[in-house]
Amino acid sequence: MLQDQEAHASQMERTFIAIKPDGVQRGLISEIIARFERKGFKLVAIKLVVPSKAFAGKHYHDLKERPFFNGLCNFLSSGPVLAMVWEGEGVIKYGRKLIGATDPSKSEPGTIRGDLAIVVGRNIIHGSDGPETAKDEIKLWFKPEELTNYTSNQEKWVYGVN
Ligand code: UDP
Ligand code: MG
Repeated sequence: MLQDQEAHASQMERTFIAIKPDGVQRGLISEIIARFERKGFKLVAIKLVVPSKAFAGKHYHDLKERPFFNGLCNFLSSGPVLAMVWEGEGVIKYGRKLIGATDPSKSEPGTIRGDLAIVVGRNIIHGSDGPETAKDEIKLWFKPEELTNYTSNQEKWVYGVN
């Protein structure tokens, strides 16, 4: 069934996804990217960065009252993080589904955390939890000129839009 161009465009979303230092160190970059890529989502920005502790604190600002906040910020700033923006219909919510529950001991098998991690403090990946957070996190991690705009060759096959 072919989808209307306009309906397709109106459902397009972007989300911020980051492979944390544990995922990078464990050599899981290609494994994780492959899962988003083969689903049909489109990569629009990517860079490897070591965030400062202050930057990590900005990223996790809504958790600053939690007991694990300091350790979490130390950890996120302890090495390279692969920061990415992925685009697609429903990518914010579905990206979270691909990632799995926060605590890997409760994540379903088949999800990234379920398949590749064991403890909550080393759950290898971050994904925005809603449209507002996605907007804020993309803005925090990327300059506007670092975000690409292009039509993927497979778009019409993924969405059935012509
Ligand atoms: N976290 C932790 N201990 C906890 C809960 C969370 O170390 O008890 C860490 C974990 O790395 C998690 C991050 O804090 O990914 C952010 O927590 P959030 O509740 O936003 O989970 P997420 O959105 O990453 O699933
Ligand atoms: Mg979160």
